[in-house]
Amino acid sequence: MSEFMIPNRIILFLRYLESKGFQAYLVGGCVRDGLLKLTPHDWDVCTDAVPQELQALFPDSLTYGMRHGTVTVKWQELMIEVTTFRAESTYTDHRRPDHVSYIQDLKSDLARRDFTVNAIAMDADRTIHDPFGGMLDLNAGVIRAVGSAEERFQEDALRMLRAVRFSAQLQFSIEPITKAAIWTCAPLTAALSSERVAQEMEKTLMTSQPERISDMLSAGLLIPWIAKSANGSYDKLKNLKPNRIHRWCGLSLLLHSTEYLKRLRLDRKTTDICTACCEIGQNQNRDDIFWKRTVYHYGKETAKTVSEVLSAWNRTDDDQILQSILDSGACCTVSELAIRGNDLITLGFQGKEIGAALENALRHVWSYPEHNDRELLLSYLREEDQHG
Ligand code: ATP
Ligand code: MG
Repeated sequence: MSEFMIPNRIILFLRYLESKGFQAYLVGGCVRDGLLKLTPHDWDVCTDAVPQELQALFPDSLTYGMRHGTVTVKWQELMIEVTTFRAESTYTDHRRPDHVSYIQDLKSDLARRDFTVNAIAMDADRTIHDPFGGMLDLNAGVIRAVGSAEERFQEDALRMLRAVRFSAQLQFSIEPITKAAIWTCAPLTAALSSERVAQEMEKTLMTSQPERISDMLSAGLLIPWIAKSANGSYDKLKNLKPNRIHRWCGLSLLLHSTEYLKRLRLDRKTTDICTACCEIGQNQNRDDIFWKRTVYHYGKETAKTVSEVLSAWNRTDDDQILQSILDSGACCTVSELAIRGNDLITLGFQGKEIGAALENALRHVWSYPEHNDRELLLSYLREEDQHG
């Protein structure tokens, strides 16, 4: 275990709790990732100290998770999530235990955790405590439920999405009995909140195996949010850079729809960009003028993101076409025109004619960028007016 890099401050924290007569272990993601030689992104500690005792030891700790037995301790500039050993009893809604009871022993706390690789603890001496064979599964690259997979998914349906997400993140396989239980229990995800489902989907989309989102779909885990299946290969998601908006755009292109994003309650900005991406992507002939019109209708930021997504998706040069437009400073929108509404009033245009004339001028400079000049545009409109 010598390679497992744990900041000394964390070891000192475990020892501090021990010096106060409590048990303390690192547990969950940080142990799993550390053993895989990945860099842990947060530090979870479990202990037999109850939240009140933790609060007494660390008066400026954060207690928003206290109801679930978690106290966030600020320790030498690190935020450490400290959770009291607990057993979770009856679940009636497939997502939250009805109540939490604090217990005294580590093994029972590990038993309530979702997967064997997440149920490994490590103490201040770096001794591993692994009653459910997590190390074996870690070495074999397997996601396996702790105990009866079906029972665990009955308790909390989110675990099924987490299984797929972890297997994509870690490039692990899902152990066959656990996988079979996912297919059996899939309908239970209907009880989950859309936000939590979206979060697991997004984490999966952001991995190096974003195509594994199709495992969620084929198992039936997403039926309440996504009814139809894709036309096209999910492998194409890998063409996109690991940016959340890009990956959601890719999924939307595959599904030919963005209705599911509303059902998932995804944020407005992402939903809007995905909708724009589907609309813009429908157009086959995306030339210079097309992208100027797109900037006009959707705005620069959206056009930029969509051009990057479509380029990566279709291996086209949409992004370069748009970039050279933006670099050239070519006029794309009314506000960039060399004329204003007032100029047109002087020419004798009135009411709705003004807006129409400005749009007319805009269309003209999309094709002739060098004509974005006050005199040239006014004479152009004067002539158009006579002929129209
Ligand atoms: P990461 O933070 O990298 O996504 P993690 O393993 O730390 O992975 P968290 O969601 O932070 O995952 O949870 C911390 C630990 O709490 C997990 O490793 C697992 O032991 C336990 N856990 C979290 N959610 C559940 C759940 N729904 N059911 C059972 N145990 C869970
Ligand atoms: Mg974590």
